[in-house]
Amino acid sequence: MKLILLGPPGAGKGTQAANIVNAYEAVHISTGDIFRKNIKENTDLGKKAKEYMDKGLLVPDELVVELVADRLEQDDVKDGFLLDGFPRTVNQAQALDKVLESLNGKIYKVINIQVDKNNLVERAVGRRICKKCGATYHISFNPSKSEGICDVCEGELYQRTDDVEETVAKRIQVYLDETQPLIDYYTKSGTIVTINGDQDISKVFNDIKLALGSED
Ligand code: ADP
Ligand code: AMP
Repeated sequence: MKLILLGPPGAGKGTQAANIVNAYEAVHISTGDIFRKNIKENTDLGKKAKEYMDKGLLVPDELVVELVADRLEQDDVKDGFLLDGFPRTVNQAQALDKVLESLNGKIYKVINIQVDKNNLVERAVGRRICKKCGATYHISFNPSKSEGICDVCEGELYQRTDDVEETVAKRIQVYLDETQPLIDYYTKSGTIVTINGDQDISKVFNDIKLALGSED
């Protein structure tokens, strides 16, 4: 399955991505994760991306599009992928259409996770991620069994440097200005399904499964 996850920062994209790739044939591609890996490894791309990410701004389209285009050409994603955090601008969506055309691929569904704006800051600020395996927790809504330690691999949990209130507020504004127009873009192509993200994590996943149907 070829899928896109759409939604504001803190909507639950990463959380649901983990569930979806477990149940369907799709490789998780998170542009945010790719940038964070590059920052950790101190690559040129990481250095450039960090300047924007620390301010809550989008990394320029030309840096992101090339990265995703290269990734989609790799063999492991030919039967399915789940794009998480890409596209984020209409420009990126148009570039993705071109890449897919050249690969003879077609998006099956765009899963749009909708969450009340008032809940987003608390979700992002309380997010904790495992340094080792990337599993996502929340200090109140989805806590690990032992504070600061991953349930899956016992790795150490950390807070993203952009998950602080001021930067999260900026990221939400950037989403409203630059990414929300994609809802219209994909409504026109008829591939979008909107999911109520203001429910328990398991209920959100149930609704996603209903929208996707059984594995094809
Ligand atoms: P995104 O990838 O869209 O930025 P995440 O999946 O990382 O969002 O989720 C943001 C935070 O909210 C995480 O701490 C996660 O545990 C928590 N979270 C995700 N889904 C829900 C939900 N349905 N209810 C409450 N908290 C949630
Ligand atoms: P995320 O992990 O999806 O929350 O993304 C974290 C940050 O990475 C964003 O605030 C942006 O600065 C950058 N980023 C991730 N994906 C994109 C994208 N498709 N376009 C531009 N910037 C991105």
